[in-house]
Amino acid sequence: MLRNITPEGAAAMLTEAFRPVPRVTSVNCYAIHSAGRLALVETGCGNTMQDSAGKLLQNMAAAGLDPAKVEAVILTHMHPDHSNGLTDPASGKPFFPNAELVMHADEWAHWHDDARMAQAPEMMRIRYFPSARQQAAPYRDRLRLHRGGEVFPGVTAMPLQGHTPGHTGYMVASGTETLFIWGDIVHVPEVQIPRPEVAIEFDTDSAAAIATRRRVLDMVATDRLLIAGMHMHFPGYAHIMRAPEGYRMVPEAWRQAL
Ligand SMILES: [Zn+2]
Repeated sequence: MLRNITPEGAAAMLTEAFRPVPRVTSVNCYAIHSAGRLALVETGCGNTMQDSAGKLLQNMAAAGLDPAKVEAVILTHMHPDHSNGLTDPASGKPFFPNAELVMHADEWAHWHDDARMAQAPEMMRIRYFPSARQQAAPYRDRLRLHRGGEVFPGVTAMPLQGHTPGHTGYMVASGTETLFIWGDIVHVPEVQIPRPEVAIEFDTDSAAAIATRRRVLDMVATDRLLIAGMHMHFPGYAHIMRAPEGYRMVPEAWRQAL
């Protein structure tokens, strides 16, 4: 799936980092409490991918979070591992009946563009486009599209175009602390953090995705930001430092009370 690196080169980097080959990927979602309100950043893949994924509703129950109390579901982008947990495909009912659906306007437009769907690679045409439309449909009346700016109290959208046309990160501010939820800036952290030029086949615009990754890595290393990512290893928080080649991740230690 990776571009600008050989399979052997990527496997060697994973092995060097004590990770299994083929890779194992986390799919994280984040809950935000702010101003007495509850938002979710993404919904994971529902029951449409592997048995080891799609645990959002169970994990919310364990954390005492009621899906009916979620006021906003905020998306970094619409790919099956991010937005297929919005709606039950069997019943067509939304899992978050009182939530607004929040995403970049270009993201919504991309997945609802018939001409783009017709031109898309087969996997996108038969799987990604239909599932994005089906998953988002029950939220049509509660849709809030943005082009950046504050989308929830203390949560500011930062467009990070490339992986998809409306791919967006979210800066979360609380008191003196800041967390940057960077979406899919990396899919394979052990490879793409040291070598930001390595791209993944799901990028709609691979050159833009690489440029965005370089810009974001530079920003978070310079500003020493705590980052969260949908494919950072669970629990999904890290810092990024400059390294002799590219960058290096420093996972955040788990804290029971974040
Ligand atoms: Zn993803």
